[in-house]
Amino acid sequence: MSHDHDDASEHGHSHYDSPASRRARSSFEVRSMALEAALVENGVLTTDAIDAFVDIMEHRFGPHHGARVVAKAWSDPEFKQRLLADANAALTDLGIGGTEGNVRVVENTDDTHNMVVCTLCSCYPWPLLGLPPTWYKDYAYRSRAVLEPRGVLKEFGVEIDPDVRVAVWDSSAEVRYFVLPQRPSGTEHMSEDELAALVDRNSMIGTGVVPAPA
Ligand code: FE
Repeated sequence: MSHDHDDASEHGHSHYDSPASRRARSSFEVRSMALEAALVENGVLTTDAIDAFVDIMEHRFGPHHGARVVAKAWSDPEFKQRLLADANAALTDLGIGGTEGNVRVVENTDDTHNMVVCTLCSCYPWPLLGLPPTWYKDYAYRSRAVLEPRGVLKEFGVEIDPDVRVAVWDSSAEVRYFVLPQRPSGTEHMSEDELAALVDRNSMIGTGVVPAPA
């Protein structure tokens, strides 16, 4: 399974990672280091607590959970119905929790392709997908995903048939959207583990689709 590469170059485009956004990121880094030092110095946080949080974000949360959920939904129609009706309850049953706000799962079908953005900032279902990629937080993605979703999808290498509706969901602190991608053909014989290995992060944001196995 592919892991998080926090880098716009993975889909062959560099315009989400302009020199300006690189400068902004490094100034954020400097500010967060200063903030961390001040919080530790004043006894508000310990470096152990910060390390533990980073460990959770980098290892306990991640797209491997989202992929497991997708594979189960593909294999178990009853679970899929529960996931679509009440994602938080279905995810709790799988031992996945700890997100702020509600998760809502939107299903890709032959008629509709769903894609997720947070136009305001970077709201994202952390336990299912880990930390958002840099491009998800970038102003260009946040604005263009709404204005010209098909053009953005094309840049991610996803060509949506004109007959297929593209639905863009705006995540917020209250509701974090998660895309259930379409199960590719040629996977009927596959186990849940094998299916999960096909599902990558972008397919669960809707900026990708799950390709049929080679
Ligand atoms: Fe946000």
